[in-house]
Amino acid sequence: MAKIQMKVPLVEMDGDEMTRIIWKMIKDILINPYVDLKSEYYDLGLEYRNETDDKVTADSANAAKKYGVAVKCATITPNAERMTEYNLKEMWKSPNGTIRALLDGTVFRTPIIVKGITPFIPTWTSPITIARHAYGDVYKNTEMQVKAGSKCELVCTDKDGNETRSLIHEFTDTDGIIQGMHNTDASISSFARSCFNYALDLKQDLWFASKDTISKKYDHRFKDIFAEIFDAEYKDKFSGAGIEYFYTLIDDAVARVIRSDGGYIWACKNYDGDVMSDMVATAYGSLAMMTSVLVSPDGVYEYEAAHGTVQRHYYKHLKGEKTSTNSVATIFAWSGALKKRGEIDGLADLCAFADKVESATIETIESGIMTGDLASLSTLENKKTVDTETFLVEIGKKLAANI
Ligand code: NAP
Ligand code: MG
Repeated sequence: MAKIQMKVPLVEMDGDEMTRIIWKMIKDILINPYVDLKSEYYDLGLEYRNETDDKVTADSANAAKKYGVAVKCATITPNAERMTEYNLKEMWKSPNGTIRALLDGTVFRTPIIVKGITPFIPTWTSPITIARHAYGDVYKNTEMQVKAGSKCELVCTDKDGNETRSLIHEFTDTDGIIQGMHNTDASISSFARSCFNYALDLKQDLWFASKDTISKKYDHRFKDIFAEIFDAEYKDKFSGAGIEYFYTLIDDAVARVIRSDGGYIWACKNYDGDVMSDMVATAYGSLAMMTSVLVSPDGVYEYEAAHGTVQRHYYKHLKGEKTSTNSVATIFAWSGALKKRGEIDGLADLCAFADKVESATIETIESGIMTGDLASLSTLENKKTVDTETFLVEIGKKLAANI
C-alpha cells in the first residue's frame, strides 16, 4: 500500500527518559509504516539542550511559528539533582515555559475518555477542556510581611512621573502580609483570542469566569476584554458554528461544572486553571490520559502529553526491567498534530489516518488490553495488563486491521 504523503513538515520536538523511548516506538509501530512522515526534527533531550546552551528550544519554537504545527515529547525541567545527573552548564529553564513565551500561547488540556474507566463525577460523560491563562497574577507577584504600625499603599508612577496612591491597609496593632500582582491587556487579549479560536476549532461552547463582583477593576478587566473581543471579532463566527460564549462568576462556574455532563471549554485565570486542571484530571482518571495543546493567538498549534517523562519507569527500563508505561497521551499528541497538518494542508487521507490511530487506541483499551495505570482503574472484567511495547503492538494490530 502506498504511504500517505504530506505537503508541509510538522515540527518534531523529541524529549527525555521514558517518553523518549515511547516516542520512537510510536513512530516505528504506528506512523512510519503508513505515513511518509515529513518532519523537521529538534532534539529537546536535556543532553542536547545543554550542548546547544538551550538554543535548540528557541529554534524549535521558531520552527513551530514557521510551519504552524508541532508535536512535543515530555522533557526534563532541570533542578539541582539534574544538574549533577546530566553535568549541566546551567539550570536551563523549562522548555515548555520557553516555547509558551515565544508563541504567546494558551494551553488546553483534554481528557481521553474510554469505556471501563468511570470519572469520579459519573455524569462527566464528555470531556471538559481546561484552558489556563499562564501569565501573571499571583505567579508573578511581589509580597511582603509587614510589622504592626505599617501603612501599606499601592503606588503607580506614570510615564510623566505623576503618582497615584491607594491605601491597601493600615496595620495598626498587628503584623500582617501584603501582595502586589499584575496582568497586561496584551496577555489577556491573546488568551481570549486563543480561547475563542480553539472553541471554534472544537465547535464547543466556551465558558469563562472570574470574581468581578469583588475585584471590580482587576477581574473586571478580564471580563471586559473577553466581552469586547468576542463582540468585535467572534460573535458572528460563534453563531455560525452554533456555539456560545458564556461568562459567569467563578463560584457559579464551579457549581455548574460539577452539575454538567462535559463537552465544553472552560477558560480559567492562572490560579483557577492551576487548581482546576488538577481537579479535572484526577476526576477523569489518569494523567496519562490527558492531552495538551498549546494554541497561539495567531493559530500555531503545539501538541503534547500533559504528563512528564515518567522518570521512575525509565530507571526500571535502564535496568532492563519491563515497564507498563501508558503511551495514550503521546499517541494523541501525534494524531492531533497529524490531523491539524491534514486540515491546514487539505489532506483528507492524513486526517482520516489520524482518526484511525485514535480509534485503534481506544478500541484496544476497551477490548481489555491496557497498561498498569489503567488496569488499576478499569472496571472491565476481561482486562489484561501489558508492557509498554506490547500495548503499542496491540494498537498497531488494530490499526492495520482498520486501514
Ligand atoms: P511524571 O513524569 O508525570 O510522572 C509521575 C508519575 O505519574 C509516574 O511516576 C507514574 O506513576 C505516573 N505516570 C505519569 N505518566 C504516566 C504514563 N504515561 N504511564 C504510566 N504512569 C504515568 O512526573 P514526574 O516523575 O514528577 O516528573 C518527571 C520529569 O518530567 C521531571 O524531570 C519533570 O521536570 C518532567 N515534566 C515534564 C513535563 C513536560 O514536558 N510537559 C511535565 C511535567 C513534568 P508510577 O510511578 O506510580 O507508576
Ligand atoms: Mg497545579
